[in-house]
Amino acid sequence: MSGSHAVDVVVVGAGAAGIAAAARLKRSGVSAVLLEAADRVGGRAHTVSASPGVAIDLGCGWLHSADQNPWAALVEPMGFTLDRSAPAWTKPAMTVNFPLAEQAAYHTVFQAFEDRLQQAAEGETDLVASSLIREDERRWAPLLNAFSGYYNGAPFDQISVKDYAAYQPTDENWRVREGYGALISAYAADLDVRLSTPVARIDHGGPGVRLETAGGVIAARAAIIAVSSTVLAERRLAFDPPLPDKRDAAAALPLGHVEKAFLKLRRPDDFPVETMVRGRTDTADTGGYTLRPMGMPVIEGFYGGALAAALEMEAQGAVWAFAIDELAGVFGSDVRRQVEPLAASAWRTDPFIRGAYSHARVGRSGARAVLAAPVADRLFFAGEACSPHAFSTAHGAFETGAAAAEAALAALK
Ligand SMILES: Cc1cc2nc3c(=O)[nH]c(=O)nc-3n(C[C@H](O)[C@H](O)[C@H](O)COP(=O)(O)OP(=O)(O)OC[C@H]3O[C@@H](n4cnc5c(N)ncnc54)[C@H](O)[C@@H]3O)c2cc1C
Repeated sequence: MSGSHAVDVVVVGAGAAGIAAAARLKRSGVSAVLLEAADRVGGRAHTVSASPGVAIDLGCGWLHSADQNPWAALVEPMGFTLDRSAPAWTKPAMTVNFPLAEQAAYHTVFQAFEDRLQQAAEGETDLVASSLIREDERRWAPLLNAFSGYYNGAPFDQISVKDYAAYQPTDENWRVREGYGALISAYAADLDVRLSTPVARIDHGGPGVRLETAGGVIAARAAIIAVSSTVLAERRLAFDPPLPDKRDAAAALPLGHVEKAFLKLRRPDDFPVETMVRGRTDTADTGGYTLRPMGMPVIEGFYGGALAAALEMEAQGAVWAFAIDELAGVFGSDVRRQVEPLAASAWRTDPFIRGAYSHARVGRSGARAVLAAPVADRLFFAGEACSPHAFSTAHGAFETGAAAAEAALAALK
């Protein structure tokens, strides 16, 4: 059925960026509608409530740069609970398969590599990050690439030095006990959201914009596009006239792959709270496991890069078998009787997301600014990939959404 609704601004995509944009517009009094393809808001922010007190974040979980993070400032005012306990990754991992002396040696190599990355980013030419791993550090390449898989969603041979260095986090990392996804979704509670309404095409050739959606055509004065870079690159959302520069920029900022799998512990007291375990230390294709995050009776498995993509593409159950085999390799096979599958993510195959978070292809760190630039006075772009220094995060997404809303408001005046 086709209809016509005249509003000031349509926001496409109810992830962290789109929600922040629509909330900013609502405060300023212009009429705004938020169109979401999926049957829930939040996008890559998604909390699943496993049981009372056990809130599981399948997407973002950490309020990174928490001392500057706009979501962190909303946690307590919105009635949620902040958890400021130190992340497991800032403490030594379990030594059962990774002795302390080796952890210290790896840490030293990692720091030196990071310093070289920051220094190399000052140069004129962009470099492939893996080119800065020295010959005498090769022994640690699997662990460095496992890290890159979790952090960038891809190994260091796909990572731009300039883009890597442009991300500027602080050292504060907090959590929301009820879930980061629950917080972000709750922020959309009083917005005019239309769920299950994918936008197929945006006609911006006339004085305003016309959006073709599954629920009909919506006319507006301006639109804020807040979908993932891969959704744009794959032309899941078309523009008329076409925007080849935007598509090219989006393709230069692909989402890497990161997936999570949570296992429930039958006897949680047998395991230490908030402790990291590495599945293996001799390959990049391994999971990072957090035992009992925030004291919950679960193990959180984190998989990056090609491994994340492969596990998710395989039949349901592949991720559980992989996780349990790795844990059995660390703790012995008794652990098999301790754990049961609870929840796992599937970001790569989600047709409205298509991956985890963006990284710039080598030589293309400038694509973030190209993607973020408005088109005339009616198309504005938001989303984590548009953020200059906080890309790949939920607070970076928030900031781009708020900025796009400000720009749209200025254009409407
Ligand atoms: C496993 C994992 C762990 C992460 N961990 C962290 C973390 O700890 N801390 C952190 O800060 N960040 C983390 N992130 C990243 C963070 O989740 C994202 O950067 C952020 O949520 C992206 O928000 P966004 O609004 O830019 O995009 P999205 O969340 O992708 O929102 C885009 C929305 O647009 C919708 N959409 C797509 N196409 C259409 C269409 N045609 N019409 C209408 N709607 C459409 C989608 O359904 C989606 O809801 C993690 C991500 C993953 C996957």
